[in-house]
Amino acid sequence: MSKLIIKGGLFFDGKNSPQEGLALILEENMVQDVVPVGNLPTENDATIIDAAGCTVLPGLIDCHVHITSAGDADSSGERLEPDTALALRGANNARILLESGFTTVRNMGSRNQIDIQIKRAIESGYIVGPRLITSGMCICMTGGHGWMGGREVDGADEARKGAREQLRAGAEVIKIMATGGVMTPGVEPGSAQLTIEEMRAAVEEAHKAGRKTATHAQGTTGIKNAIRAGLDSIEHGIFLDDEAIEMMLERNVALVPTLVAPHHIVKGGVEAGVPAYAVTKANYVYKSHIESFKKALKAGVTIAFGTDCGTPLNRPGANALEFQLMVEAGMTPLQALTAATSTAAQVCDRPNVGSLAKGKLADVVIVQGDVLADVTLLQDKTNIKYVIKDGKVAVSR
Ligand SMILES: [Zn+2]
Repeated sequence: MSKLIIKGGLFFDGKNSPQEGLALILEENMVQDVVPVGNLPTENDATIIDAAGCTVLPGLIDCHVHITSAGDADSSGERLEPDTALALRGANNARILLESGFTTVRNMGSRNQIDIQIKRAIESGYIVGPRLITSGMCICMTGGHGWMGGREVDGADEARKGAREQLRAGAEVIKIMATGGVMTPGVEPGSAQLTIEEMRAAVEEAHKAGRKTATHAQGTTGIKNAIRAGLDSIEHGIFLDDEAIEMMLERNVALVPTLVAPHHIVKGGVEAGVPAYAVTKANYVYKSHIESFKKALKAGVTIAFGTDCGTPLNRPGANALEFQLMVEAGMTPLQALTAATSTAAQVCDRPNVGSLAKGKLADVVIVQGDVLADVTLLQDKTNIKYVIKDGKVAVSR
């Protein structure tokens, strides 16, 4: 039996204030126990990792990635690439995400369900990567946001069928487009798209199959339509008004803000090669996005970590910048890290990950320094000393 003991350092269990003087005992792929260092047996056959000077955290979770995208300034070339090119890039991105401390990621929309094949390749051991939660193709309206790689549907029956098709292919979450967005030319972020009836039909199918739903929702009307249709999480949530926040609280709908997505577009701009239509739209939404995040945080909305990585200049592996933006917008480091661990696990419906306690899966990251004092430490990969997934050391530096 393989046993791994991580001793000392600052221990963050995914939820509570960090503690010192603890040891994490991993056996096979599970957390066997968390005990005071003094209570460790003096003799054992375990491999011991000394975490002195480091923070020990649950493997990080990103609730919103685009695993087949590179994060190029102008991704229009990707739209013309064959599926094989996307799959191979996805395999490379999967490794990069794991190496940067993300042991679980949720993919939000994938042309021809490529994400499901990437997941299977990871599980078969052909490639390395995080636990991947897949959506298959996103459900969008004809010509709506995401249509180029999505399942276009019109009417409740077609939305139902579109969701069933993704479930048949093995999707574990259904991604539904409630509004326009930044990255589709000619589509406005503020405009409502799929109707309540269409979304409700897709949600019903997902929930019958025991799966969660997530919605790309930026404009206020579309956000409220999505909540009324029963969606489980609002992705982006750029234009949240008080009523939308009240509705989210009432129905326990989570927000996955992805602050870093417009951040990169606004910061890089057309000078960095981002298409002008995307820069104009990102500039238009940027301030409201941060204001909405602040309002939701203050009101106590459940907020989970997500990056939308794969959007312009938002490269896989640089996901940890989102922690900094969350803290700059008012979260404590503890809140930001909780958003990417226990809260993300709850939003992704994966209770076995995102926290370190007896019986949980052995996904652990060990980072040099005190991450709860400085979340930017996560942005430098050389600080990430160990990534352990399923009880196995995937990265050691
Ligand atoms: Zn996205």
